[in-house]
Amino acid sequence: MKQERESVEFDIVFVGAGPANLASAIHLQRMIKRYNAQSATLLEPLIAIIEKGRYAGAQLLSGALLDPRALEEFFPDYRDQGCPIEATVSNESLWFLTAKRKFSFPFLPEPFSNKGAHLVSLSRLGAWMAEKADEEGIQLFDNTAATAPFLENGKVAGIITDDKGLDLEGNQKANFEPGLLLKSNVTVIGEGSDGSLARQLSALFPSGSRGQRYETGVKETWRIAEGHLKAGEVHQFFGYPLSAESYGGGWLYAFSPTIISIGFISSPGPESPHCDPHRNLQRFKKHPLLATLLEGGSMIESGARTIASGGFDAMPPLYGPGFLVTGESAGMVNMQRHKGIHLAMKSGLLAAETLFEALLHNDFSTERLGSYAERFRKSWAFEELHAARNYRKAFDKGLYAGLVQAGLQLSFPGLSLPKTQLTIPALAPLPSLGLKKRKRDFPSIPEFREDGILTFSKEQSLFHSGVMHEENQPCHLHIKPENIAEICLKKCAEEFANPCRHFCPASVYEITTEPVPALKLNASNCLHCKTCEVADPYGIITWTTPEGGSGPGYKLS
Ligand code: SF4
Repeated sequence: MKQERESVEFDIVFVGAGPANLASAIHLQRMIKRYNAQSATLLEPLIAIIEKGRYAGAQLLSGALLDPRALEEFFPDYRDQGCPIEATVSNESLWFLTAKRKFSFPFLPEPFSNKGAHLVSLSRLGAWMAEKADEEGIQLFDNTAATAPFLENGKVAGIITDDKGLDLEGNQKANFEPGLLLKSNVTVIGEGSDGSLARQLSALFPSGSRGQRYETGVKETWRIAEGHLKAGEVHQFFGYPLSAESYGGGWLYAFSPTIISIGFISSPGPESPHCDPHRNLQRFKKHPLLATLLEGGSMIESGARTIASGGFDAMPPLYGPGFLVTGESAGMVNMQRHKGIHLAMKSGLLAAETLFEALLHNDFSTERLGSYAERFRKSWAFEELHAARNYRKAFDKGLYAGLVQAGLQLSFPGLSLPKTQLTIPALAPLPSLGLKKRKRDFPSIPEFREDGILTFSKEQSLFHSGVMHEENQPCHLHIKPENIAEICLKKCAEEFANPCRHFCPASVYEITTEPVPALKLNASNCLHCKTCEVADPYGIITWTTPEGGSGPGYKLS
C-alpha cells in the first residue's frame, strides 16, 4: 500500500550536513542577504539541510587535516568566529615502518607537505558550521534520513525522508510516523562517501563515469601522557603492518601535547578479502614507535568510514536534472595529500554560486545547474584534483611500483603513467575499480589477541563510537535470502572465506553454524562506514538508511 505523506515545499534541500553542504548553505544565504540589501525585489528562498545523524557532526569522521584555502574564501574571520581549530601543523614527518624498525624520510615532497594546514576534529568543525548556518537562518533537520529521491517529470523534485516507528518486520508500531515528502527545486547531495541517495541517482541517471573506488579509514582519538609530542605534530606512515602488495598507511596527529588522532587506511576488497581495517589499526599501534607514545594513555573515541579514493578519474557527474552533487559524494578527495575537506568546501561554494544564479533567474533547468560543472572546471579544486589524478592508481601494482611511479609523477607533473580520462563525465557508475572476483588461496589470518589497553576488539571499540540503533526496526542491510543461501553460505565461503567477517569494522557480519549455517547480522553495531557495500565481492549487500538518528555519535573524530 502506498504510504500517504505530508509534503513540505522548499526551494533548496541539502542532503547531508557535512563541510560541503554547510559551506554551500552559508555561502548561499550570505549571497542572498547581500543581494536583498541592495535590491528592490527580495529573494526569500526556503532552504533546508537534512542530516541523518542525531546531531550535526555526529557522523563526521576524518583524520583530519584542513587546508584552510576554501574556508578562508567564505569565512575569512573563521578564527575570530570560534572555529574549532585544534592546532596548526608545526612539525611533520613521513616514516616507513617494518615490524620492529622505523625509517624517517629525510624530506617531504611538496605535495605531501601540510604546511599551514590545521588539525581539526571534523565532527566539531561540522557542529560549528551547523551553528553558523543556523545563525544565518537556515533550518537544519537532524535525525532525518533521505531514503529515496522524489521524481517528477523525469527530474529530481525532492526527497522522501525516513519512516519512523517501524518494527523489525516493517509493521507500524504505536509511535509510527510516516516520512515526509520534501519537495524542492534543487536537491544538493552531499552525503559523503558512498551515499545511498547518490547511488540511487546514479542508477536513475546513468553516465559514462568509471565508478568510484574506496579505502576504509579506522580512527581513534587518545589521551596520552605529556612529554612525547607537541601540538601540531603530523606524522604519516607506510609499511607495517601491511605487506608490500597492499595499499594503505597510518597517521598520528597531535591536537595538543595530550590529545592525538591516530588512524589507519586500508584497502579491503576481493583482492585482499582477509584485509581487516580495524585489526590493521590495532597492529599498527603495536609498533614500538607508536606503542611507546600510547603507553599509559587511554582511548577516547573510535570510528570508521570509507574514503572515496578514485580521484579525478572516478568523479561522478556533478549535476543532473534537479540535483547537484557536492563534497565526497562528488569524489572531492585528493589521496596524494590525504585531504578532502577543503575540496568539499570549495565544491559547496561553487554549488552555492550556481544555486544563487538559479534563484535569481528562477531557472532550475539542467542547463542552468550545469554551470556548476563549468565553475568547477575553472577552479583551483579542478587543477588540484587533476594534478593528483594518477597518484592512487600508481599503487595498484604494489607499494614499490607505486613509490616509483608516484615519484616520477612528482618529478614530472605532466607525466601520465596509467591511463586517465580528461573530462568530467556528463551524467551508474560501472563496477568499482579494483573489485574483481578471483578465486585464490588466501593466506591464513595471523592470530591477534587484543589486550584491552593498547589494542581493542571491534566490540570494545564500539563502546567508544557512540553508536546507537533502535533494535526493533527493519534491518538496514539488505541481502536477498536466496543470495544468503547460495552466495554467502556456499560460493563466497568457498571463494573468499566470507570477507565480510573481516572488512566490517563493527562485527556486524557473523557466520554461525548452530543449529545450521547462517549469516547473522548485528545491524545495531553498524558504524555506517559503508565498507560492506563497496568491498562485497558479489555486490549483493545494499546499505539503506535506517531510522534517522541511528548510527555513530562522534564528538571528537
Ligand atoms: Fe560498515 Fe555497517 Fe557495513 Fe559494517 S555493516 S561494514 S559498520 S556499513
